[in-house]
Amino acid sequence: MNIGIAGLGLIGGSLGLDLRPLGHYVWGISRSPDTCLQAVAMGAVDVACLDSEMIPYLDKTDVVIVCTPIASILPTIATIAPRLQSSTIFTDVGSVKSAIVEPATQLCDRFVGSHPMAGTAFSGINAAKRNLFHQRPCVVTPSQDLEAMAMVRSLWESVGAIVYECSPEAHDRAVAWISHLPVMVSAGLLLACEQEVDGEVAQLAQNLASSGFRDTSRVGGGNPELGRLMAEYNQPALLKTLHTYQDILGSLISAIESGNWDAVQALLAKAQTARPLYVE
Ligand code: NAP
Repeated sequence: MNIGIAGLGLIGGSLGLDLRPLGHYVWGISRSPDTCLQAVAMGAVDVACLDSEMIPYLDKTDVVIVCTPIASILPTIATIAPRLQSSTIFTDVGSVKSAIVEPATQLCDRFVGSHPMAGTAFSGINAAKRNLFHQRPCVVTPSQDLEAMAMVRSLWESVGAIVYECSPEAHDRAVAWISHLPVMVSAGLLLACEQEVDGEVAQLAQNLASSGFRDTSRVGGGNPELGRLMAEYNQPALLKTLHTYQDILGSLISAIESGNWDAVQALLAKAQTARPLYVE
């Protein structure tokens, strides 16, 4: 197939690295000449330019995967779609779906939303890596265009992802719990630690931080722009999860304040039982 990738960063570059060895011709666009040069040099794309109009065989494109930051997804589709045949399928990888799928379908008949649940703490083309999506869940949103849906689904399956189909609304509520809330909680943890006023204790805490702190602080110490976009574009669902989290924290605080150690243990036992439901 002839595949376009708009936005050559962690996700777009990683997709290119996996798709080219499958025999696809992959073109890319990004905003910076350095990103384009690097994407070609590392084998993520066959060709990359700042402007899609400069891409060879553009009119033969089968599918475009929009991998820009969330705020640029709709403007990118609006720019590229009119330059391509109407048969070209579009998908995106944005971490929210309600704000994107409906308006994107207005811009392009053959749009199917996607969201691969894969990432690292790094961003940009230099963070791109092979097999990022292998054995990772990937959401595909429903469309009346069954052929487009099947093609987007098989695209993700070809890079090893496990595809789940769900509505944009269900997606946004689910990822609020397992992706967006953890970013805010983990950031809150880091910000709370920074409140220690005794310099000696603060330094000791930094020296003693080990694997547990590494695990719990990882997503909160990531790209702030991405976290902002999660809050901005998934505000109602994220707020609901944050308020529930606040209530649970309140229960833990009350139990600890009153020395009700059985209640503390009972809450932690419930948490222990819940964890395997989400991760191995
Ligand atoms: P990233 O590493 O920062 O990559 C985004 C790339 O897009 C940048 O390298 C940038 O390259 C390019 N770009 C920015 N604005 C652009 C524009 N207007 N037109 C064309 N290219 C543009 O970010 P990412 O982590 O790959 O995230 C990209 C998308 O994937 C986001 O929508 C995000 O919600 C989604 N996502 C992220 C993760 C994750 O964990 N990171 C997971 C799943 C989905 P230049 O500087 O060269 O312009």
